Amino acid sequence: MLAFFPSTFPDESLYSVLGRYHRLAGNASERESLRELVGDAQHVIMADLPGTLQRLADALPGKRWTADRLIDELTLFPYFAPCLSPAQVAYARQTMQGATAEGVKMRLGLLASRIGGHIRLRFCQECRRQDADTFGQCYWHRVHQLPGVWMCPLHGCALSELPSNTVFLNRQRLLLPDEKAVEAEARPIGVTTVQEKALRRLASLSEHALHAELGEWPATREACRTRAQTAGLIDGASRIRVASVDAVLAQYVTTLPAESEFAFAHSGGVPSWALKLLRKSRGTSSHPLKHLMLYDCLGEAQSPCIGVSPMMPIAQPRKGPVDEIRLRQLIEAEGRSLRESAELLGVSTTTVRVEAGRLNLTVSSRPKRIKTGLQQAVLADLLAGKSVASVAAAHSLSLPSIYRILRMNPGILDARERGRLAVLKAKRRESFLAENASTSMRQCRDYAWLWRNDRAWLTLVVKNARNQTEPSCIPTVDWAVRDQRLKTEIQAEHLRILDAPGRPRRASRTALLRATGETDTILRNAYKLPLTHASLARCSESIEQYQRRRLRWAAEQLIAEHLPTQRWRLLRMAAIRSTANVDPEFIASFVRMAVTHP
Ligand SMILES: [Zn+2]
Repeated sequence: MLAFFPSTFPDESLYSVLGRYHRLAGNASERESLRELVGDAQHVIMADLPGTLQRLADALPGKRWTADRLIDELTLFPYFAPCLSPAQVAYARQTMQGATAEGVKMRLGLLASRIGGHIRLRFCQECRRQDADTFGQCYWHRVHQLPGVWMCPLHGCALSELPSNTVFLNRQRLLLPDEKAVEAEARPIGVTTVQEKALRRLASLSEHALHAELGEWPATREACRTRAQTAGLIDGASRIRVASVDAVLAQYVTTLPAESEFAFAHSGGVPSWALKLLRKSRGTSSHPLKHLMLYDCLGEAQSPCIGVSPMMPIAQPRKGPVDEIRLRQLIEAEGRSLRESAELLGVSTTTVRVEAGRLNLTVSSRPKRIKTGLQQAVLADLLAGKSVASVAAAHSLSLPSIYRILRMNPGILDARERGRLAVLKAKRRESFLAENASTSMRQCRDYAWLWRNDRAWLTLVVKNARNQTEPSCIPTVDWAVRDQRLKTEIQAEHLRILDAPGRPRRASRTALLRATGETDTILRNAYKLPLTHASLARCSESIEQYQRRRLRWAAEQLIAEHLPTQRWRLLRMAAIRSTANVDPEFIASFVRMAVTHP
């Protein structure tokens, strides 16, 4: 059972929450966190349809989460579910709860849909800023990860993307949008002005699809057919006017990008995917994005400006949206790029690309070369720390061109990264110190970030604070003075014992220690009390010394009482039973003394 689990933010993905867990837990590596979370350090958490959810739900504290709730609230499954058969839904749920969700996309037909099952981590720069302000931490939104969502449904701006191969290479990590690696690799998705409207509509529809309750799903087959009927694409006898559908879709597709998830729509010919959706259900499932695209396309077809009037003869051969002869001349004779040709013809680049493909024109896919002088000027601006957007605007270049120049000059990228990090550190340090004035260090929002990115500084701050609050490093006891005092006390006690009248008492080590009343202190702090211990060693009386002193005293007593100092008398008076420790010559000297002084 985990000690804690972060509360989720609005529309946050499971991958994101686990990333925040890792960061908050302060574990050195993702492996440690994964072992805690799912019991397997090698496990790969998929950002869209993750597995091992039962094991995770069991490990979470408080029994707040079940595996099904994790699936419904934190994964992309609710987006796919309405387009799946009940058997597929059951299979997917079971697989995601089990040990691994690998293969689930294949079984759900997501790979066969030609939309692809790649995971690209996407985020909105505006959301990222707002989240950091509101929650103190940015995170991955589920809606941004949906296929075909290239723009933020909330802010209407193009998303930034971590390419799928980068995601794959970092698959055993738990990244967050403000990770250094993410910031270095993420690129804004290129969206042209022509594509913006359609992509915004699709983003909103996708968001609606993700959050729709069952029965409210926007782009069902019935809803599409109703729109098709209104647009005159299905006649009174429920027959689909295939040529008309083809024409409407061809027009619609020119407003969409031609790559990635949308590439399938540009393959030409009568779009069978759309017809399949409009025809009566045969129990087969389709990708939700196809539903949403068709629904959106038919919605546009209803509007009077783009729409196809039922009366309009549309069965005639379709004319291309651009002047074929002029396009051929621009591309083949003049060697113009797609972008230049599009500008000259007054249509989108995508339209030109599609038409060029249709006419089999060879177009160089290489990017337009930027002259060396211009490149140097751009580099100088970048090195000065100006933002990519402002440099692009100043030199009338696109954002991708500036990023391309940056990629070609890794030194500048590093320098900018260092500069950016320095600015970020300064900001974090400032807000940390401000917050720390009123709360403890570990409670501060920036503590974890600084621990990961600015550890040396943080350690220093912690150390300084500790020194200020706990001046316990300065000793409260003056050991030298105490040593001197104890030494004197022991010497005095030694003399007192020797001078005491009556039968001699032994000046043993224990007796000397006991007299100080600080036996424990002296024994425990031997290295702090060298003088005390030296005098203790010097003054302690050995048994032999003590017996000699008793013999001397006994002799004095016998002489005072005018008794002969015979050996047995001496020993009895001195209370010595065993003479093993006494030199016999020493005893004999007293006996002789008695003989000479009767
Ligand atoms: Zn946004």
